[in-house]
Formats: sequence, structure tokens, C-alpha cells
Amino acid sequence: MQTIIRAEAYLCDIAVEKKRTDAIQAFIKQETIFVEIETDDGLVGTGYSYTIGTGGRAVLQLLQTDLLGFLIGQDARQVEALWQKLFWATHSTAVGVITNLALAAVDTALWDIRCKAANQPLWLLAGGARPQVPLYDTEGGWLHLSTDELVAGAVQSRAQGWPGVKLKVGKTHLEEDSERLAAVRAAVGPRTHIMVDANQSMTYPQAKRWAHMLEKHDIFWFEEPLPAEDIQGHALLAASTSVPIAVGESLYALSHFREYLVAGAAGIIQVDAARIGGITPWLKTAHLAEAFNIKVAPHFLMELHVSLAAAIPNALYVEHIPQLRAVTSQEVKIENGFAIAPDVPGIGIAWDREAIGRLRQNSASSNKP
Ligand SMILES: [Mg+2]
Repeated sequence: MQTIIRAEAYLCDIAVEKKRTDAIQAFIKQETIFVEIETDDGLVGTGYSYTIGTGGRAVLQLLQTDLLGFLIGQDARQVEALWQKLFWATHSTAVGVITNLALAAVDTALWDIRCKAANQPLWLLAGGARPQVPLYDTEGGWLHLSTDELVAGAVQSRAQGWPGVKLKVGKTHLEEDSERLAAVRAAVGPRTHIMVDANQSMTYPQAKRWAHMLEKHDIFWFEEPLPAEDIQGHALLAASTSVPIAVGESLYALSHFREYLVAGAAGIIQVDAARIGGITPWLKTAHLAEAFNIKVAPHFLMELHVSLAAAIPNALYVEHIPQLRAVTSQEVKIENGFAIAPDVPGIGIAWDREAIGRLRQNSASSNKP
């Protein structure tokens, strides 16, 4: 028994490190919801989840009012049992992203404890497939950037040895997106992967036209062309183009991924550890994809996903969008186009406690069963 004696949640607003826009939204700030869990053997696990600017207070409130109290007195080693207990405790608000983000903050804290108790880094304890994973850059591909800026970003990524870059698409006219892609393709040559992301902004007929254009530029994947609920549209699109369709950052249950995979609606899976509800369901989703011979390129959260991608055999890429510099004392290690999984016990994020203390907005703890 490894008894939980303290569970605490709080929120930090972290300013975006640079302006980020896509076809439907802008990244306003990172509302980062932290959960700290302490056990009777003296270990403290820190977990987290996030929003890109709205709803984070609702996640915090759910944790403080309805969830943290369930943890006190429980065995921290029973991560699966605790996830299920919390999920069913709040089932009238699940499946849903607010609940998932709350569960994820708890689940990552429990995995942090599990790894520390085993004296193992996350990438090894969760599977141990390989210590490093290829990295692609999104930070140079935002929709508001000019074609010259896109080209400069892609050239810089290539000079650093990164094998891929992602560009946002969804301009009013297809020709404008096409010109931007052509300029980047000409600048980086044929051996850099170029991904594009429409952030669910299109209709199926529109996406079909875009996909035809993307084929001309040898695009590596077409991400979230349609609203995430439209599985049939994604399946039709996937059948109509040679460009792989990537989805997953807006899916919130293992069964949603199963539906996509069974329908042949996704060629690449982009499961997000926060939005799916933590490391526990993230790993299940990755293994489900493996059963369909589909690769995983997780969405955002490079500081955590580097370890998870390194854990599984079917990881394709980690996405480069640094966003935790304000609250960490160490950055993700990148060498020759690969992100290196941290080799320290725990989930591998070097939190700067002083900085977190400064940014902390609110807190409440629960130490009663
Ligand atoms: Mg995306």
C-alpha cells in the first residue's frame, strides 16, 4: 500500500511564447492545471493538463469540488482503479474535455509517483521502445505568417536537421495556400516532410479540393481537415486522396479512436495526453493504433509526449511547440532532429517551483477522506 495523504490542485496562466494562429482560433494563454499528490512514503507526484485559453477554471473547480477528495486514503499504485473511480464519480459530465483534463492532471501525477517509486524514467516504465523520437516544427508555420516568414522558418528547421515542418492552411483561396506550400517546398527540397493542418475548418467538398492540391506538393499529412465529429467525411476524404489524414487532438475517448480506425478515417493518430485523460488512456490509444498498423504523432505537449512517444513502438514524430519554459528549469533536449526522452525518475519535466509559485492563481487541497 502506498497511501495518498495529500492531493492539491492549482492553476497557472502561462503566456504564449509566440503568437500562434490557425484557421479557427488563436492560442491566448496556456491555462495550466497542476495536481500534486503526496503519498505516505514521502513521494510527491506532479501532474498537469492545459487549455489554450478558456475553460481551465472549470477544470480546476471540478478537481477541487468533486474529484480530489476521492483520492485521500487510496493506494497510489492502483492508477487504473483510481482513473476509473474518478471517471465514474463524475460520469454525468463525461465523456467530455473538461472532465478529461481534470483526470489527466491526476493521472500524470500518479504516473510521476509510479516512476519515482520505481526509480525509472517514464519512457522506460511505459514501454521503452527507443530513447529518442524524430521532431517536426510547428512553431514556424502559423497562419498569420507571411510566405517569406514560413520559408525562413522551414529553412531554419532544416538547417537544424529537423526532418519535418508543419504549416497551417485554410486561407480563403486555395491558390494562396498552394503558393505558400510551393514556396516552402522549393526552399527545403524534396526530402523534408511538410505537414499541413486545417484545424477542422473545412467541409468535405472543400477538403477534397485542398487534398488534391496537397498531393502536388508531396504533403506528408493533412491534419484535421473536417470537424472531429465527422467520421464519415474523414473516411470519404481518406479514400479519395493519397495524402494521409491525421486526427486525434480533438478526440476524447478510446472508443472515438476505435471508430476512426475501424472506418479507415485516419492514417495517423495524434492523441493528446491531456485531452484523452492522461497517460493511462494515451497508452491504450497508442496500442490500439498499433493493432491497425497506424503510427502516432502526438499533439502538442512535447515536454511530456517525448517520453510517451519514446515508450511505444509506433511513434512517428514529436511536435515542436515549446510552451513550458516559464515554469521549467530545463528544456527538452534536441539533437540532430530528434527529441531525447529525459532519463530521470518521473515524468521527466524539471518544474521550476519558484516560477510556478509566482504564477499560481488559486489553490485548494484535500486531506480528508
Ligand atoms: Mg492540429
